[in-house]
Amino acid sequence: MKKKLAVLTSGGDAPGMNAAIRSVVRVGISRGLDVIGIRRGYKGLLEGDLFQLTPRDVSNIIQRGGTILKTSRSEEFKTTEGQQKAKAILEQHKIDGLILIGGDGTFRGGDRLGKIWHGQIIGVPGTIDNDLYGTDYTIGFDTAINTALEAIDKIRDTADSHERIFVVEVMGRHSGFIAQAVGVSGGAEEILVPEHPFELGDVARRIREGRQRGKTSSIIIVAEGEETGGAVNVAKQLAPLAGYEMRVVILGYLQRGGTPTAADRLLATKLGAYAVDLFTQGATGVMAGEVGGILCATPLSETWSKKKPLDKYLTSIQPQLAS
Ligand code: ADP
Repeated sequence: MKKKLAVLTSGGDAPGMNAAIRSVVRVGISRGLDVIGIRRGYKGLLEGDLFQLTPRDVSNIIQRGGTILKTSRSEEFKTTEGQQKAKAILEQHKIDGLILIGGDGTFRGGDRLGKIWHGQIIGVPGTIDNDLYGTDYTIGFDTAINTALEAIDKIRDTADSHERIFVVEVMGRHSGFIAQAVGVSGGAEEILVPEHPFELGDVARRIREGRQRGKTSSIIIVAEGEETGGAVNVAKQLAPLAGYEMRVVILGYLQRGGTPTAADRLLATKLGAYAVDLFTQGATGVMAGEVGGILCATPLSETWSKKKPLDKYLTSIQPQLAS
């Protein structure tokens, strides 16, 4: 009997999820597996929304953002009863393995399910935030930073022409990967991230000093979330301290969608196939990742409990870059 490998996408959508699904389906079927799609993440799993996938079902999706399997957030799955129900449905459909494409929430759920269900669980890192340990990059991050960068380049034209200070909020949940990447590549004067505590008084002083050195416009990148306070709060407190008016831009959801970049399609294709390999090798409770160009499997619990650091070198040269 053919083994059955199911795949779902869960949590926030990320560009490249479709490329990962395509890779799982085509490589899985080529390896002699039945590949089963689950619609709408854990929600669809609990509703028994499972269907057989064929190589043709994933034609023409490698270039599309979002996810053809749809995604969702499920409160029910967070409960013990929900996880027991999911186990029963997987058993009823005789599923041998489950590939989870998502972020840390999805993996936390997968880890819980793995404690009660006998099947194999393999994670694929699909989130624009890049906040998972066990892979240098997550699927969707490269597209998201390029999208955000395009917006920041446009804001800079206006900031420059009007000699203004813009405070731009980017996504990232509790991490500054997006902020650091777009901040450095967009030439931002300040990059405020949760990983590095900051004093707004110091930021205000640096902005004033910048003006004295002849800078006429500034861009301040702020990672979303409580840790930084968000762009609206930062601007409100910073403007009187610095003595300059500030404009706020929140990039929000426009960072999540869009056509995946080549880098994201490549990563998604590689990690989707590698997740299938891990399944056929008998692995379980791990995430497929790539570190330093080498494919590796990391226990799901480490993907959120261990902290992947921001690029230290970029952090160290930021003051000089903004001089
Ligand atoms: P992401 O995977 O992008 O981090 P979420 O944090 O929204 O997205 O998680 C996706 C889903 O995973 C949630 O809606 C929930 O069903 C499940 N989940 C998240 N955290 C847990 C948890 N601690 N235990 C069980 N399931 C969880």
